[in-house]
Amino acid sequence: MKINAFLITATLLSVAPLAAQEVEGPASAHPATQDFTTPDRLLKQRIHTLHLDGTKYRVEILKVGDTRMKAKRISDQKEFEIPLAMLSKKQKRLVTEWQAFNELHHPEGLVETEFLTASSKVDKDTIVPDTDGYEVSTINIPLMETVLKVQFKYTREKRSQAKRLTNLMKHAVVDYEAMTGIPFPGLNPYEILEKPGYANLGLAGPTDMWLCGLDKAGEWVLAHEAVHIWNSGGGPSWVGEGLADYVGYLEMIKYDGVFLEVESREGYIAFWDEFKNTDKDYPLSEKKYDYTYGATKNMIFWELMNKEFGDEFIYACFTHNSTQPRLTNDDFRELLTKFGEKDPERIMSGWIVKGDYRFD
Ligand SMILES: [Zn+2]
Repeated sequence: MKINAFLITATLLSVAPLAAQEVEGPASAHPATQDFTTPDRLLKQRIHTLHLDGTKYRVEILKVGDTRMKAKRISDQKEFEIPLAMLSKKQKRLVTEWQAFNELHHPEGLVETEFLTASSKVDKDTIVPDTDGYEVSTINIPLMETVLKVQFKYTREKRSQAKRLTNLMKHAVVDYEAMTGIPFPGLNPYEILEKPGYANLGLAGPTDMWLCGLDKAGEWVLAHEAVHIWNSGGGPSWVGEGLADYVGYLEMIKYDGVFLEVESREGYIAFWDEFKNTDKDYPLSEKKYDYTYGATKNMIFWELMNKEFGDEFIYACFTHNSTQPRLTNDDFRELLTKFGEKDPERIMSGWIVKGDYRFD
């Protein structure tokens, strides 16, 4: 869906109650600037009605501190959506994923507020039959800069699994944007295809996602693959794949995802105990990554990192991995130092580079 973006300006008046103020769209209908006084008092908390493209939106205006304001959507009209791309960095204030505004300060300290919206319509989510026993579920997810349309094609008898995956996808893309600060970098519409019998569990990048049979590729696989929409260009594997597993895992926990039997945490912890310090246990940056021993060790490692340095450390690594071609060992040491580690080798030894374990 092409977003029909437009911009309107609402001037806050000192005389008329804000709730009574209506601004007619579309963009060309900018009201004339009015004189106004004491915006502090005015902006404490008002309900503002915006009349855009034939639809009324109720917006709560909050005063925060002396000069900052928040605009908050209080109706359930999800159509109130913001094209942040239209604003310069200096101008934009993201309040929630739905709202943004632009505040302008008059030389006399007066305030004007522009409200922005990308679209007054978000299409309804649908499920429709397709050919050959497939059906297509289409969902619309309002994101930082766009309404993302995801088209998920799966075999019809897997509808209930597909619904759970779809729901998780909605959360994952919103959260991964928030974690990295990077607007959804994939195609819109974005296609997810179930390919029963596909040799891998899943495969994804910015262009599309493949999942093998949904009895094998469960929610954790989807949460993992969705990470690759962001980090597919970044290496090495212990970071790219390790974070796909671990960030996906955090998402599963957050949304109470259903793990498959083979994905049990007890299972991989027991497996780790079995091969730790054997010849199967290699420093993660020193050998070609494998999806059995390497992946298990990696999960344990990122869990430890989270415990020691917090979620923000995980997000910082994810962001680095999504914006730069390579996260080198030195980059990783630098990140550790930034998060308060005085002796990065204490962390690296045994886990990432050759040496005895000094941290677990
Ligand atoms: Zn992967």
